[in-house]
Amino acid sequence: MAETIFTKILSGDIPCHKVYEDDLVFAFLDIGPLSKGHTLVIPKEPAETLDQLSDESAAAIGRVLPRLCRAVMKVSACTAYNVLENNLPLAHQAVFHVHFHIIPKPNENGGLGIKWPAGSLSSAEGTKLAAELSSAISADS
Ligand code: AMP
Repeated sequence: MAETIFTKILSGDIPCHKVYEDDLVFAFLDIGPLSKGHTLVIPKEPAETLDQLSDESAAAIGRVLPRLCRAVMKVSACTAYNVLENNLPLAHQAVFHVHFHIIPKPNENGGLGIKWPAGSLSSAEGTKLAAELSSAISADS
């Protein structure tokens, strides 16, 4: 995998405002925050997208995410927040190293803005899609 700005942060070549570190996980403040306290949580493993991440690193992030969210909530004095993880440029990924954004939502206009063009799901479509997904998950286990 190519070196990214986040691998350089992990190696200490580029400075950051670190907020957390353990054997597998690192977290630091986003340099272009959408709101006060906007934090990035990354695996030390250099996976580009979430689907490429090992179970071990994914579990390590999952274990610590709620604690980091609570810290962000406390320090930014917010109760609402978004956790966002983008994969590939079409989905707004700019840095090709897995990262979870924790973004406080202080008010209607602050934090992350989301378009949510909800469609509909028929019973037949849902049955077919769920079966396809279940079988894809089984094939990947
Ligand atoms: P994404 O669009 O999900 O790939 O988000 C990349 C994020 O990385 C953006 O929110 C940037 O502000 C943030 N970012 C880029 N370079 C740095 C850096 N050197 N330190 C902290 N955050 C950064």
